[in-house]
Amino acid sequence: MKLAIVKETKTAESRVAITPDVVKSLVKAGFTCLIESSAGMASGFGDHAYEQAGGAIVADKATLLQQADALLKVNAPTFEELEALREESVTISFLYAYTVPDLVNHCLRRRISAFAMDAVPRISRAQKMDALSSQANLAGYKTVILGANALGKIFPLMMTAAGTITPAKVLIFGAGVAGLQAVATAKRLGAVVEVTDVRPETKEQVESLGGRFIQVEDGGVQTEGGYAKAVSDEYLQKQKDLVAKHVAEADLVIATALVIGKKAPILVTEEMVKTMKAGSVIVDMAVESGGNCALSEYGSTVVKHGVTIIGEANLPALLPVNASELYARNISTLLLHLADKEGFKWELDEEITKGALIIHRGTLVHAFTKELLN
Ligand code: NAD
Repeated sequence: MKLAIVKETKTAESRVAITPDVVKSLVKAGFTCLIESSAGMASGFGDHAYEQAGGAIVADKATLLQQADALLKVNAPTFEELEALREESVTISFLYAYTVPDLVNHCLRRRISAFAMDAVPRISRAQKMDALSSQANLAGYKTVILGANALGKIFPLMMTAAGTITPAKVLIFGAGVAGLQAVATAKRLGAVVEVTDVRPETKEQVESLGGRFIQVEDGGVQTEGGYAKAVSDEYLQKQKDLVAKHVAEADLVIATALVIGKKAPILVTEEMVKTMKAGSVIVDMAVESGGNCALSEYGSTVVKHGVTIIGEANLPALLPVNASELYARNISTLLLHLADKEGFKWELDEEITKGALIIHRGTLVHAFTKELLN
């Protein structure tokens, strides 16, 4: 079976789907790895390293895709890539299929089967394939580093001959994978950390990392498969009232709150930003899903009412070495679950296959995607 690994074309993307280490193990398992020239350069993996690992570098992308049985990517395949692939070939990548109906239709027309890394079930058995977690973990770390860098003060308590510096206050919205890593990172740097989440079960996790949990009185929301469901407007208002004073006192606000398949909830309004101290910072990690702060701008850093609001998109791409290493292990583990050197096994009722397979040979088979696209 021939695998294609291409250079990502999305703006500001510096990750690569497969690293030389993983090429080595795939070659050992009998796969042929064809790598587009300079595919890993932006993440620190040169062509020579891939060749040494047993991969073959191909300069012409169209030739590469023509030969491939499966295309492995970080981001969704482009129309051009889908055109160049043979009919009945397979793609594995982040896809968020419900957000790209035209791309889904193109796969259907070309009878290309598509697996989505974002749809791999969050079950223990699939933990090694969980790219949402591996990338969110790194993104959570980076939110704190970006915030700390933009802040005109340090994080820890410092007693000096010239006086005592009080620790920075960090407020975090959302205690999922990214939020919890942000708690741990901010604590390590010495900040006082407060966290709010709609899932009451996160209280214990936050407290075990040394954070203080701010909880809306009436208990929180129902969850589905571990994910938060959208909360009512009434609940959101209560939450805003409760956290308003914490926002006003915070030096750094980190927003990571997401609701699967929906626009991110607005948790920091313009009125709340106006109450913040001049020089304070907001890092809005939810900006790709619409943002948790009403004033954040996708892909930009803006200063509004004296507050720096960082809307950096694609935070894992700012840590391309580690992000590619972890992603490569996630995607290759999924591949080895689905296929061997002879080809895909297509056990359509198996839980991980069923969860991650969006399109199978010209048919949209994924129930959640169907529901959201209708
Ligand atoms: P996510 O990125 O979808 O959401 C981030 C956080 O935002 C969540 O904690 C969510 O509750 C929170 N949120 C939503 N609305 C909010 C609001 N109004 N205010 C404050 N917070 C709000 O979440 P995720 O990091 O992908 O994790 C989701 C769940 O999946 C978690 O329960 C996690 O433990 C679970 N998980 C399980 C596994 C596994 O078992 N293999 C792996 C990873 C994650």
